[in-house]
Amino acid sequence: MIVTLWGVRGSVPTPMTSDEYQEKLKRVLGQANGVDLSDDEKIDAFIETMPREDGGVVGGNTTCAQVTDGETTIVLDAGSGIRPLGQRLMGSEFGKGQGEAHILFSHHHHDHTNGFPFFVPAYIPGNQMHFYGVHEALEERMVGLQVREYFPVPFHVMGSQKHFHQIEPDVPFTIGEFEITPTQLNHPGHSYGYRFHWRDKVFVFATDSEYKNPSEEEYEHYVDFMSNADLLYFDGQYSLVEAFIKEDWGHSSAMAGVDFSVRSNVKQLVIGHHDPVYADVTILEMQQDAIFYRDFNYPDSELAIAAAFEGDSYDLSQ
Ligand SMILES: [Zn+2]
Ligand SMILES: [Zn+2]
Repeated sequence: MIVTLWGVRGSVPTPMTSDEYQEKLKRVLGQANGVDLSDDEKIDAFIETMPREDGGVVGGNTTCAQVTDGETTIVLDAGSGIRPLGQRLMGSEFGKGQGEAHILFSHHHHDHTNGFPFFVPAYIPGNQMHFYGVHEALEERMVGLQVREYFPVPFHVMGSQKHFHQIEPDVPFTIGEFEITPTQLNHPGHSYGYRFHWRDKVFVFATDSEYKNPSEEEYEHYVDFMSNADLLYFDGQYSLVEAFIKEDWGHSSAMAGVDFSVRSNVKQLVIGHHDPVYADVTILEMQQDAIFYRDFNYPDSELAIAAAFEGDSYDLSQ
């Protein structure tokens, strides 16, 4: 099972500003002082040595992740990250109208659906698009995204064949070799997390949730849902201070992710749904804060912690 992140921003797509780019450039040039950059090979080697915030970008696309085992293509949410995913898929059987995609929705807020009208494989006749959701009236929700007042091409004019699958919370279903269980999270209008079981590996996708004063029972339910995950994608939009101030906005902090991960025996925590106001350097500082929090509170923990970057891939097959 390979998990690839195509959009890791929360709320709204967030292109990098010139100011942020220039800050990055300044840091890079500062590090280049005295380094031999006389040919492409040496420049590539220098770039390899860059810290993450300077050698790449967090990315500005909203939530979209791809889960595949090489046979089955599953897409989690259709934020603006699904647009570049679609371009990539067009190089495979999807470009010939022979592709089959399974698209699972956590919920239908704009940042989780705004990319779908730009998902080119959905326009190609012959491609099969399967939509899954716990919320009722999934088809109406999809159609509503593209009514003429807001988008020129209606949903059902897109040429692919579309299939809708109503799924139930806490009831496992299968797609190919994946066994998948949705569970309700705490978010305005409800969001649903997904637990993927593939052979002996577990990936948990838990975005758009606040874990405010859960009852013992709710807490245990979340811990069960995340238990023994090899990889947990967690909504850590807020700093710890913001998590207190922005009560009821429906998001969480990286620290809550660390607490749940340790309690649930998670191996690797990936913090995503980054707030649009944060520059890459701040997101990396928040990652460091989470590592500090782990070391301070759980000195024996071996939990790996990373901020989500667009384009990152996690291979859970080994
Ligand atoms: Zn969101
Ligand atoms: Zn939301």
